Amino acid sequence: MEHIRCLIIGSGPAGYTAAIYAGRANINPVLYEGIQPGGQLTTTTEVENFPGYPEGVTGPELMEDLRKQAERFGADIRSAIAIETDLSARPYKVKFDNGDEIETETLIIATGATAKYLGLDDEKKYAGMGVSACATCDGFFYRKKTVAVVGGGDTACEEATYLSGLANKVYLIVRKPFLRASKIMQERVLNNPKIEVLFEHNTVGLFGENGVEGAHVVKRMGEADEERYDIAIDGFFLAIGHKPNSDIFKPWVKTDEVGYIITEGATPRTGVPGVFAAGDVADPHYRQAITAAGSGCKAAIEAERYLAENSL
Ligand code: NDP
Repeated sequence: MEHIRCLIIGSGPAGYTAAIYAGRANINPVLYEGIQPGGQLTTTTEVENFPGYPEGVTGPELMEDLRKQAERFGADIRSAIAIETDLSARPYKVKFDNGDEIETETLIIATGATAKYLGLDDEKKYAGMGVSACATCDGFFYRKKTVAVVGGGDTACEEATYLSGLANKVYLIVRKPFLRASKIMQERVLNNPKIEVLFEHNTVGLFGENGVEGAHVVKRMGEADEERYDIAIDGFFLAIGHKPNSDIFKPWVKTDEVGYIITEGATPRTGVPGVFAAGDVADPHYRQAITAAGSGCKAAIEAERYLAENSL
């Protein structure tokens, strides 16, 4: 088993920023990239709100820059997925799917969050064949076609608006009689002639021969005036929120009912000494690249102080 001083799990803005700070603080961070190297931003196109890029930057470019910056300060970046943890006593133990076993004095959890699905069998059946949870990654394939986006939050409205620039028609399937998204996003959707909002609709299945050709939808499901019908679509996009990637830490750290790691006040402390959480795995509210980066910075500063205070 390899013994180290600072282990960072996750390679989004939180993980890489933690690695930059930990590297500069000389605590020899080892960072494991996880399931999606570069994190969720690698699935977006233009990022216009990350400070320091007045002309904007693509998600993959931004992540590549952060990675290079972390490497410049000596971060040891590796590819593997953490599968098991033992945080019962220091040094903390983490096992990875490539067989690596690490013993660490401090741990920064920056494992992010993953898009949610409705749970329909058809979502699995048509995975990669018309079902997607990322409009900016896959929207290009649906130029001049008809697509549906599920959800009524900011993500759903943003994705529907984005897709309307490519597709001929976009259905927005919303289970409530209203949108939860911010006013400005709602207005963009409601004033867009290419977007038809299906309020009070649920999707119960998909159909198609060699890919998605349509969805079975139900209007006012369970009510006396319930209506079942099909819509013809070529693509089905999920935008119904995210699940924090905290499962392997749950026996040791506190989480809320959704699974977001609860930290102490405005700090990244988890309650387990020397274990910190940064980025979307601990943030149900802001979920921005810049807030994730900020919390990664805090976590690295905390790790460095913890090692110094305990002479580790
Ligand atoms: P939200 O949790 O805000 O919205 C999820 C949406 O999906 C809701 O409309 C919800 O419906 C719906 N939903 C959830 N489960 C199901 C289901 N099983 N079937 C059908 N519909 C379902 O998630 P978002 O990802 O949209 O946003 C998360 C956070 O990120 C928010 O704080 C948001 O403001 C922020 N954000 C900000 C952006 C920006 O400012 N540019 C862009 C994107 C996100 P219901 O309302 O009925 O619960």
